[in-house]
Amino acid sequence: MAYDRSNVFARILRGELPCKRVYEDDHALAFHDINPLAPVHVLVIPKGEYVSMDDFSATAPADALAGFFRAVGETARRVGVAESGYRLLANSGADANQEVPHVHVHIFAGAPLGPMLKKVAAR
Ligand code: 5GP
Repeated sequence: MAYDRSNVFARILRGELPCKRVYEDDHALAFHDINPLAPVHVLVIPKGEYVSMDDFSATAPADALAGFFRAVGETARRVGVAESGYRLLANSGADANQEVPHVHVHIFAGAPLGPMLKKVAAR
């Protein structure tokens, strides 16, 4: 899938839409999710144009990959959940219900999060 420069995260990166920023560096931006599903729900996105984790992991240069994952850890520390714990989620593609076609990691935290995933039956 080609990268769509009109997606909401691209617009946030260009400053066309606001966000509640948590952390930013040369590689990544982290901000609160507009529709939080946990007491802490933060999104971390790389600044490059990558559609999904599949695209990002296969095509991004090593410094972009390392910078992004360091930013995920730094964001968790900045929001104060590194000790209490957190869950990372990266939806990739249709079966995962990825809504925004710019790769991102969700950080969920702030309370016990329950089981990892409701069991899904095979098709
Ligand atoms: P996905 O299903 O693609 O993994 O998750 C996309 C996430 O982006 C959703 O949790 C949704 O609430 C969040 N989101 C969508 N539009 C916006 C927006 O304009 N601002 C912020 N902060 N979050 C958004």
